[in-house]
This record gives sequence, structure tokens and C-alpha cells, in this order.
Amino acid sequence: RRPARPHRDLVFPNGAAPCHKHDPSIRIMQWNILAQALGEGKDEFIRCPVDALNWEERKYLILEEILTYRPDILCLQEVDHYYDTFQPIMASLGYHGTFLAKPWSPCLDVERNNGPDGCALFFRRSRFSLQATAHLRLSAMMLPTNQVAIVQTLSCQATGQQLCVAVTHLKARSGWERLRSAQGADFLQKLQSITSQDGSHCKASPGSIPLIVCGDFNAEPTEDVYRRFSSSPLGLNSAYKLLSSDRQTEPAYTTWKIRPSGETCSTLDYIWYTSDTLSVEGLLDIPTEEQVGPDRLPSYHYPSDHISLLCDISFREEPHRLM
Ligand code: NDP
Ligand code: CA
Repeated sequence: RRPARPHRDLVFPNGAAPCHKHDPSIRIMQWNILAQALGEGKDEFIRCPVDALNWEERKYLILEEILTYRPDILCLQEVDHYYDTFQPIMASLGYHGTFLAKPWSPCLDVERNNGPDGCALFFRRSRFSLQATAHLRLSAMMLPTNQVAIVQTLSCQATGQQLCVAVTHLKARSGWERLRSAQGADFLQKLQSITSQDGSHCKASPGSIPLIVCGDFNAEPTEDVYRRFSSSPLGLNSAYKLLSSDRQTEPAYTTWKIRPSGETCSTLDYIWYTSDTLSVEGLLDIPTEEQVGPDRLPSYHYPSDHISLLCDISFREEPHRLM
């Protein structure tokens, strides 16, 4: 028998469960789902049984995770089954989807791959309409890199309130800290120009569109790119810090895996939000070490080496923002 999917509690960082009848909070999911070609071909997760990586079963575990929480906005990395799986299934469930492949996806080096991996962004059509999409290729010191981002400006169907959502997957591996930092700088600059409604590029103006940035940053909180995001003029805060008792500490891990080179347990994934305009009402807690299990991830009961992040976010009520 396969072990059950870990049960995770929704934690309310401001105390009790909120009740917004008129303006319900927006549920955001951030998840690096593990590209099928990489999981089978390059990652060498030596403690993961090979049949736990079989796509015909693993895809249902990924969909089960998504459908259990039914996010309004879903940000994914390492998607190499967009056109044949996620796009049609999510469309049938009422989502609008966008996909942006990496220019030179490492999946293409794997035999019998399913095409390049990339980022995907889905939103629930009943809640939002699409105003604008930017497909970005991130640069570092003016040079284009192999990393991309999607940025969409949405409008709430009920209130007309605008919201900007972004998804990215920064360069992996140690030794690339400076490249990640430069990619972050480029990304922040582009986000600034997209969210500043007056088109000014210099600083976040009071009229800036509320912003949520989801990603696998491949960077621990000690890295330069993390510092750039937490101290940028956009006023971003990292949602998962609110799980900690001091509200200042990131979770101990968002990915946990065992390769021939050893075990890695690290915090690489984040949901950033503009804290002057948005507030986090709820967060899905991180599975315990016991729930992760002795062979770590992925496993029979959890389909990716990265843990999904999920939070409920609402607009802060500011009279000048109401329409
Ligand atoms: P990254 O270094 O960003 O990593 C790509 C993927 O590898 C990520 O999804 C990452 O997962 C995963 N990964 C991280 N650490 C390991 C590890 N130790 N073992 C296995 N996988 C790991 O890749 P780039 O975007 O810079 O792409 C580099 C690749 O692209 C090259 O390896 C080459 O295959 C290909 N390429 C091909 C070119 C061509 O001409 N065909 C040109 C340029 C690149 P996570 O984010 O979860 O850590
Ligand atoms: Ca990976």
C-alpha cells in the first residue's frame, strides 16, 4: 500500500480564520513540480523508487495536490507536460493558462523527452480577467540567460481591482550565486516598470499595482538575490516568514532530496507580496520531517522534490483603492 499524501494544516498568521463574505481572499499556489524528463533522466534521486517517477501515475499526484487546495492562482516551474496535460486539464476546470519554455531546457538533453520545461501561470477565469502578459527572458549584466519569467496583470471580476502576478525559476546550483543575483536585479527592474502605473521606472509610486511574485529562486535566504528581493523599492515581503513565531524566519526547507552527491535540505522557493497593499490571511504549513519520510522527496506519496507553497492573500482595505 502506498502511504497517504501528507496532511497539512492551514495556519492563520493573524489569529483566527478570516471571514470575507464580500471580498474573499485569493489563494496562491507556488510549486516546482519536477520536470518529468529531469526526474527520470538527470536528477538521480537515488532513494526514490523508479516507479514513483512513472508519469502516468505521478501526474495524478500532482493534479491531486493542485485540486486538493483549488488555488485561484497557480504558479509552476519545471513544467514539461503543459500542452498534453496541464493546459487541457486546467482549462476544463475553469483556468486560463500561460506557458513559457526555457530557451535551452535541460530536458531536451534527455532521451525521449516531452519537450522543454518552463514556467506556467494559471488563474481562475471566474475570478480574474487578463489585462496584460509579459514573457520575460532574464538577463544578467545585460546578457540574456536561460531563465525566464511570466508576468500577468489581472483584474478582479468582482471589484475591478488590479493585481500583478509573476512566476520565475532562477538558475540552479552552487557557484551561480552572482548570476542569480543579477537575474534578480533584472527581474525586479522589469517588475517595477510593469507595476508602476504611471510608467515611471524610478521608484514604487503610491499607485503601484499590488504584486505577487512566486518562484523557485534556487537561493537560500542568506543569498544576495534574496536580500535584493526583501529590500527592493517594491516593498516585497516573503509570505512564508509568517509561519514562524517571530514572523521573520523562513521555513527550514522547501526542498529535500538525496542524490549520489548527498542529501540536500534547503529553502529555495518563495511567495513574495507587496505588504503595503496585500495581507497574508492563511498559509499551508510545511510537512514535517516525519511526513517527508526517510527517503526524502520525491516519493510514492509526494510527487516532487519541492514542497508546494500555498497562501491566502487579500487586498488591504485602503479607501483610495476601492472602486
Ligand atoms: P540549471 O543549472 O538552472 O538547472 C536546470 C535544472 O537542473 C533545474 O531544473 C534544477 O532543478 C536541476 N538541478 C539542479 N541541481 C541539480 C543536480 N545536482 N543534478 C541534477 N539536476 C539538478 O540549468 P540551466 O537552465 O542553466 O541549463 C543548463 C542546461 O541547459 C545544460 O545542462 C544543458 O543541458 C542545457 N543547455 C543546452 C544548450 C544547447 O545548446 N543545447 C545550451 C545551453 C544549455 P532545481 O531548480 O529544482 O534545483
Ligand atoms: Ca529540479
